[in-house]
Amino acid sequence: MPVNKEAYLTIKEELDKQGVSLVAVSKTKPVEDILALYELGHRDFGENYVQELTSKAGLLPKDIRWHFIGHLQSNKVRQIAPFVHLVHGVDSLSLLKEINKQAAKNNRAISCLLQIHIAKEETKFGLDAKELDALLTLVEKDAALYSHVLLHGLMGMASFSDDDNLVRSEFRGLKNLFDKCRMETTTGRSFSILSMGMSSDYKTAVNEGSTMVRIGSLLFGQRG
Ligand SMILES: *Cc1c(COP(=O)(O)O)cnc(C)c1O
Repeated sequence: MPVNKEAYLTIKEELDKQGVSLVAVSKTKPVEDILALYELGHRDFGENYVQELTSKAGLLPKDIRWHFIGHLQSNKVRQIAPFVHLVHGVDSLSLLKEINKQAAKNNRAISCLLQIHIAKEETKFGLDAKELDALLTLVEKDAALYSHVLLHGLMGMASFSDDDNLVRSEFRGLKNLFDKCRMETTTGRSFSILSMGMSSDYKTAVNEGSTMVRIGSLLFGQRG
């Protein structure tokens, strides 16, 4: 299936109007598909698998901003640390420490979002509100240990459901947590990114205050 350039232009315009950033999720799709959007001016692409990301990044233009949106294992951080633009799914202090360590080795700081568990499904990763609070407290207490990571905000995935009310309430809960961090924590004061919304629910997410959506299948077609 070819890339849906029409859909891209429509969605991009709609999001631009609302000041929302678009990450085009290209996982499982060939580099030609990424180039098709690159040629339209798009630079932010999201991948879920380290191996796939590193091999694609090697083949594609260097000004692409690569977002790692999958579940990142600590032992794979090293491979993406030289170039990754934003890690969306940080869900533990040990992972954050490893990202910090690998960023330091590369003489850079790596931007991260903390993943929050908002869905009903048990399978989705992420911190709950209490764990988030505990993590931020520890990071602030030992700030010197985290000087090579930049926490820019939160990310979450709603339940995979047709029930728009359920999805809406999950996004609303995440937005409330985001606002609470911004008001009540030192780290949160600089939060600017709330990554929520995918192909099936991005409109709801934007209505609930998302600042960054991650869209795959609407742009690139269904994955096999
Ligand atoms: C695959 C994926 C997306 C994009 O999903 P679509 O339904 O194809 O838009 C967004 N976020 C994450 C974390 C994903 O794994």
